[in-house]
Amino acid sequence: MKIAVMKETHQEEMRVPLIPPTVDKLVKLGAEVVIESGLGQTCRFEDGDYENVGAVIGTSREEMLQTADIVLRLRKPPMEEITLMKKGCIHISYLDPFNEKELVDRMAEAGISAVSLEMLPRTTLAQKMDVLSSQANLGGYVSVIVGAEQLDKVLPMMTTPAGTIKPARVFIIGVGVAGLQAIATARRLGARVEAFDTRPVVEEQVKSLGAKFVKIDLGETGQTKDGYAKELTPEQVQKQKEGMAKACAQADIVITTAQLFGRPAPRIVDRAIIDQMQPGSVIIDMAVETGGNVEGSEVDKIVEVNGVKIVGLGNLPGRVAQTASQVYSANLGNFVDHFWDKEAKTFNLKLEDEIIKGCLITHQGDVVNEMYKSIMNK
Ligand code: NAD
Repeated sequence: MKIAVMKETHQEEMRVPLIPPTVDKLVKLGAEVVIESGLGQTCRFEDGDYENVGAVIGTSREEMLQTADIVLRLRKPPMEEITLMKKGCIHISYLDPFNEKELVDRMAEAGISAVSLEMLPRTTLAQKMDVLSSQANLGGYVSVIVGAEQLDKVLPMMTTPAGTIKPARVFIIGVGVAGLQAIATARRLGARVEAFDTRPVVEEQVKSLGAKFVKIDLGETGQTKDGYAKELTPEQVQKQKEGMAKACAQADIVITTAQLFGRPAPRIVDRAIIDQMQPGSVIIDMAVETGGNVEGSEVDKIVEVNGVKIVGLGNLPGRVAQTASQVYSANLGNFVDHFWDKEAKTFNLKLEDEIIKGCLITHQGDVVNEMYKSIMNK
């Protein structure tokens, strides 16, 4: 089976989909791996590093797409490349399907089997392929590093001959994968950390990392069967804002990571909260690319409101591109490996498998994903 690995076309993307150790793994499975020249350049991998583990350098992008049985990428494919791929080709990448209806429709029409890695179920078995987790984990780390860099204070407590310096206070809103890593990173840097999430189950996890859980009584909240947060009512959002205001006002750094699966991020830090914050403090809006948790945040900008810096940098994992590529590549390799028929040396797209059911969006001319269809038809 021929696996083509395409170079990213998004100008500012420094991550790469596949690094040589994963190519080695796929070649050993019996796959023919063709990479686009310059694939690993932004992470300092030369074409020769890929050739050394058995990859072939493709002659042209068109030819690679026309002949591939499987196409691997990081970001969604450019629209104009859909019709280049052959019918039955399996395309594996991020797809952002809820915001890319036309792209999904075109992929269905072209007979492509499109896998959206964002839709992998959050199960123990799928953990090794879970790109959302591996990237969110790094995003959480970067959010603290960026926050520390933007703040004009130090994070740890220091006892010095010139007096004692108090630790900075960090407040983290949303304690999924990114939030947990943000707590751990801020704690490692010596900050005093508080956190809040609408899912009460995370309280124990917050405490186990040495942070304080801010309790706000919102009534019934809960989570979906996949562990995602449920959307709050407008009254609950109001209560949450009131409950968080004090923690925000006391914080030097506020990091927001709140997301709702398949929907825009909830707007939870508004102008009234920002107005109560101390000048010089910093807000990192990790949800800026999905609508933003913070009023006034802008993608790839640092906006100042009454002396409070609102940082809306997108693609935080891309700021540690080497590590982010290493884990993304490992996730892709594990996905292909999991469904690889070692006898026939082919990828077995098992339609009845729970993982495939979760993340396969289009197949044989149709949009086949039940979750996608139910959310899009609402
Ligand atoms: P996410 O990115 O969807 O959301 C981030 C966090 O924001 C979540 O913790 C969510 O509860 C929170 N949130 C939503 N609305 C909020 C609000 N108004 N205020 C405050 N917080 C709000 O979450 P994620 O990191 O993808 O994790 C989702 C779930 O999946 C978690 O339960 C996580 O533990 C679980 N998970 C399981 C596996 C696995 O078992 N394989 C892997 C990864 C994650």
